[in-house]
Amino acid sequence: MHAGVTAGFRQYAALIDLSGARSIAVEWHSDQLSQRPAMDPTEQFFDDAFGKTVELGNRLAEKHDNADLWDIADGLLAGAIQYWLYARQPCGNPRCEECQPISTAEGRLSELRRLAAQFAEESEYYHSPSDSNVGRA
Ligand SMILES: [Zn+2]
Repeated sequence: MHAGVTAGFRQYAALIDLSGARSIAVEWHSDQLSQRPAMDPTEQFFDDAFGKTVELGNRLAEKHDNADLWDIADGLLAGAIQYWLYARQPCGNPRCEECQPISTAEGRLSELRRLAAQFAEESEYYHSPSDSNVGRA
């Protein structure tokens, strides 16, 4: 098996909460994890990686309290993309159907864009109350 399942993202995103504090961009409720129903291992790996990435962002923001959160977020994203591209290299078997969509650099970028759009749209931060297209009556 090469590909991960992303079904856990939606459940995980629901556990995240916005904090008003400048130093903590995203709040993380790890205490709620133990109350969740059992997940399959793929979901657990996904949720663990997702949660730890958010925690890392929060830790970096606390450690460098003069840092721009955008710089931290861009660095996290660049690191995630680096890891994703490393992990999604085709297995080398030219007949492998599972690797077919990611068997070229363009194919991997296409899959990366698809996932980026999916994760963004599933995030509770996709829409912001301060979006310029939000009505202010
Ligand atoms: Zn393969």
